[in-house]
Amino acid sequence: MDEEWDGDEIPFSEYIREEAYHPAPDPLGPILDVDGMLSSMEAHRLHQIECFRLAAHARAAQTGRTSPDLVERSVRLELAAAMRITEYETEALMIRGHALVHRYPSALDSLGRGRMTRKHAEILVSLLDAVDIDLVPRLVQPAVALAEAEPVGVFRRKLRELIEQVQAPTIVERHEAAVKKRRVVYEPAVDGMAWLSLYGPAVELKAGYDRITRMGKAILRAPDGTGDADDDTATAPDGRNLDQIRADVLGDLLIEGEVAGHPDRARGIRAEVVVTVPALSLLDDEHAAKGEPARVEGVGPIPIGKARELCGDSGNWMRILTHPETGMVVSVGRDSYRPPRAIRRLVRWRAGRCLAPGCNQPADRCHLDHNIDWALGGETEVTNLSPFCVGHHVVKHGTEWEVQQLAGGVMQWTSPNGRVYLVEPERRLPAFTIDEPAPF
Ligand SMILES: [Zn+2]
Repeated sequence: MDEEWDGDEIPFSEYIREEAYHPAPDPLGPILDVDGMLSSMEAHRLHQIECFRLAAHARAAQTGRTSPDLVERSVRLELAAAMRITEYETEALMIRGHALVHRYPSALDSLGRGRMTRKHAEILVSLLDAVDIDLVPRLVQPAVALAEAEPVGVFRRKLRELIEQVQAPTIVERHEAAVKKRRVVYEPAVDGMAWLSLYGPAVELKAGYDRITRMGKAILRAPDGTGDADDDTATAPDGRNLDQIRADVLGDLLIEGEVAGHPDRARGIRAEVVVTVPALSLLDDEHAAKGEPARVEGVGPIPIGKARELCGDSGNWMRILTHPETGMVVSVGRDSYRPPRAIRRLVRWRAGRCLAPGCNQPADRCHLDHNIDWALGGETEVTNLSPFCVGHHVVKHGTEWEVQQLAGGVMQWTSPNGRVYLVEPERRLPAFTIDEPAPF
């Protein structure tokens, strides 16, 4: 018999308990449904905020008493007070609402249908708003498609890359203009400290940073040092950590140039930068204009002329052309648990970053994981190694997630609920095949 409706509201906790008796076949389904509704609601909210803003401007235009700037402030205060959030947050919502309604309506539509999250919409607006207005129309559709397909961190990275690509034809001009703004800034800080900042071409500065890092690590490994310089918590015999040593080394170099007090290992160490250049782009400008831009690891795209200069130089650059180079060491089998340097570099270079779903931790700050444990017979080879950041390394080993390396270094993460996520490495290694003799 139905219970009589007595007019009182059913407490939410009761309602939740009722639901729990009827579990859905997919336990994540209800959560994802609500998530989609939140996205949809967010689209409505931003649209309503923009309508509210426009109405306020229209009213002000009729009376002619308030400047547009003051209308904005008034609207912001009113919204913030009503929604009980800060004005800072409110302003971000207003900017986003305006951008989505007027500049990126297809993104608003996608958000409204629950195909991207509010975080995706936020990133899409902030990244596209920073692009030259002429280039934006080419970016909106691919940006929406990425937002609908990728987790937030990956989406942000890929959209940045896309923007860099679209802007690449103007990179020479933009770089030249930017180089003219190079400078050193000295800023006093409290406690008898100060900042010295150098703004300059990224390639040289990254090389410089890598150099002081290597010098710092050499000092950490000095006799009596606690040893493993790859351990972030390692300290030198005098108690200095890597951050402090880097600062001291740079200070020494600035002030004294060549420093006699450094151990031999730390002297004359040169930077090593990984440059990726599409092979054809090296040939001539015509190919360069058509192809992908050259990239420096950790820096981004660089002018092709600069890349040619770097690749022509025999010294300190690890050059990786995007066509097969032979002679790579890819496996040492069961000879050694710790991968030799060539393999460590190759595995990190291939992955680019932590190969957990949605993670953007750069590979050089990751642990190298034997995907099949060494203890269980896993080999030390590129097909059994991948970088995971400390957090995801723990997840892989300590939870019910199952992680497997597929062909091409793709990682398959299977969630405790059986959902499967494939994480693509940044790059593919060239495949080395041996021609089989014909059977007849
Ligand atoms: Zn990670």
